[in-house]
Amino acid sequence: MSVQSSAAQSNIAEALQWAFSQLAATSDSAHLDAEVLLLHCLNKSRSFLYTWPEKPLTLEQWKRFQKMVQKRQQGVPVAHLVGEREFWSLPFIVNETTLIPRPDTEILVETALNLPLSDNAKVLDLGTGTGAIALALASERPKWQITAIDKVEDAVALAKANRANLNFPQVEILQSDWFSAVESRDFDLIVSNPPYIDETDEHLMQGDVRFEPHSALTAAEEGFADLYHIAQTAREHLLIGGYLLLEHGFEQAVQLRNKLTELGYHNVATVRDFGSNERCTLGRWFG
Ligand code: GLN
Repeated sequence: MSVQSSAAQSNIAEALQWAFSQLAATSDSAHLDAEVLLLHCLNKSRSFLYTWPEKPLTLEQWKRFQKMVQKRQQGVPVAHLVGEREFWSLPFIVNETTLIPRPDTEILVETALNLPLSDNAKVLDLGTGTGAIALALASERPKWQITAIDKVEDAVALAKANRANLNFPQVEILQSDWFSAVESRDFDLIVSNPPYIDETDEHLMQGDVRFEPHSALTAAEEGFADLYHIAQTAREHLLIGGYLLLEHGFEQAVQLRNKLTELGYHNVATVRDFGSNERCTLGRWFG
């Protein structure tokens, strides 16, 4: 990476231009990446960049920015560099222990909120990671009794940090291998965004997923192992008329719908994401 000799004199506009030129070849969101990283280094809001394009960076800010741009050039996700990602308009702390929340998962939250559930419904989020789904639901339905579980200890700690930061103390967060910590409990709604990518998928060699743990991304049986396990076991933990709602890969919908029907779920249906891909499938359990 070339380092400008007039480093200390760089202003905001020049710094952005430089970062864009560095990132253009490796990131398809180079402009946005440059802005988000610079804002993080300056600790300012977005309008600041446009209002003060000629404001010079301090040497310290410039050095920090250069280091971050270099890491981004190597592929490190912007969310990991700034330690945060917005989901459902809420700021989530993120780190390399779990998945970075995706905009497509907001469709699962929206679908859950549209279900005809009572004010104090019992809800379980399996494999919560950052806590994104559970905490987004809590932000909209403060009386829902929400439990979020994750098998990975560091993910549980991260979800708890987000719970504290967003101030939803009513959400219960437990370390659990799928249903193991809620063995004797039943729910009105069980949601999950489990690992569902095939272990040999070439998508795993590209972009942000290279920096996310495989435990949050991949599953055996062409990505279906965890989806099937949850669908099968959830039947023992759903109240009569309860719903199961699962995120999945865009090519997994037909097989998953068939599986849910075969397992005895009713009203099986799939919802598409913002890119028009089949993304979430739900079914209802009547025992
Ligand atoms: N949708 C994510 C991706 O394809 C994967 C999420 C998951 O495995 N649960 O990058």
